[in-house]
Amino acid sequence: MSERDLREELAGHLRLFAQLGAEGLSRDPAWRVRPSDQPEAPALAANAEPAETLELVRADLGDCTRCKLHRLGRTQIVYGVGSPRAELMFIGEAPGHDEDVQGIPFVGRAGQLLTKIIEAIDLRREDVYIANVIKCRPPENRNPESDEVACCEPFLFRQVQAIAPRVIVALGTFAAQTLLRKNDPISRLRGQVFHYGDARLIPTFHPAYLLRSPERKREVWEDMKKVRALLRGEDADGKR
Ligand code: URA
Repeated sequence: MSERDLREELAGHLRLFAQLGAEGLSRDPAWRVRPSDQPEAPALAANAEPAETLELVRADLGDCTRCKLHRLGRTQIVYGVGSPRAELMFIGEAPGHDEDVQGIPFVGRAGQLLTKIIEAIDLRREDVYIANVIKCRPPENRNPESDEVACCEPFLFRQVQAIAPRVIVALGTFAAQTLLRKNDPISRLRGQVFHYGDARLIPTFHPAYLLRSPERKREVWEDMKKVRALLRGEDADGKR
């Protein structure tokens, strides 16, 4: 490793470590039960519309009442934020309290940590695009339910299609399972690099989980180095 790479790596470590606190995350496995013959994600469909835009997707979403979350206390729809031409996209689970109030994904404590993770690879929030699988806050921050995911995921798939990122980071079990159509927990999915259409998909731990389990920070940093390498046109291990 060159001195420059070593310096960058150490700097990234330090920035990330500085943000880690302690908070928890529980998982209701009910929604994960999916038929084994699940079709490919719509984003991969051969007949996908090529001229998708974020504005079109947002217009189709409208003032959505497709699932019960619209009458369970949401303040507003939390659509997505960032550059429509982003090469890197982060996908989380669902808005929490702060996101519901501000209408912007990842603005609470977990969001502040995500910002530090983005900055650790020398990018800014404005350079990337950030969205969630679910666009409305579930009550009491409970896990999204399978009918809610079914209603909402087509809009996420279309957002991905509109942005056409080169690299997608799936934050946590929920996003990784939704995008990959797999039932494995994040602990088994992370460490691998997947294909998602023309993009590469890297699952990693959710920042809220990192707040509770800061000892997992090293693994997230390993994943982010892969992201950085892929964005530089290297392979995930940093080789050209
Ligand atoms: N957690 C998520 O998954 N998404 C947010 O927007 C905030 C917290």
